[in-house]
Amino acid sequence: MEEIRLPILKLCPAFRRIFRSAAAALGSGDIAAMTIGGVIVKIASDADVVPGSPDEHRLLAHEREHMRQSAGYAPWWARLFPLSIRATLGAPKYIPAYVDIWRRTGYAAHPYEIAARYAAGE
Ligand SMILES: [Zn+2]
Repeated sequence: MEEIRLPILKLCPAFRRIFRSAAAALGSGDIAAMTIGGVIVKIASDADVVPGSPDEHRLLAHEREHMRQSAGYAPWWARLFPLSIRATLGAPKYIPAYVDIWRRTGYAAHPYEIAARYAAGE
């Protein structure tokens, strides 16, 4: 199993509730993580998605695909930097583009989500 090393922010229970409510409002159901630029926000607790487990590996593969997508919106010179930095530099364009598509397709049919599920082998 390929190890994925990316910046992961773990949430305390109060923030976990806030993120779950926001995700529910967006119609994405009970999501386990969210990628914002070059950081993966792990919403699920370590008890629900155990670090190093196949579940977490799939989760990180999914979120890494979102980082790649975000990095694709970064300026050309961002190629000098690692993926998480490129994803952060692309985020100001990626996030509005993601939301614009999401308005038309919803979450499940979003092409970026389909690509992320594919990347995670789902
Ligand atoms: Zn996703």
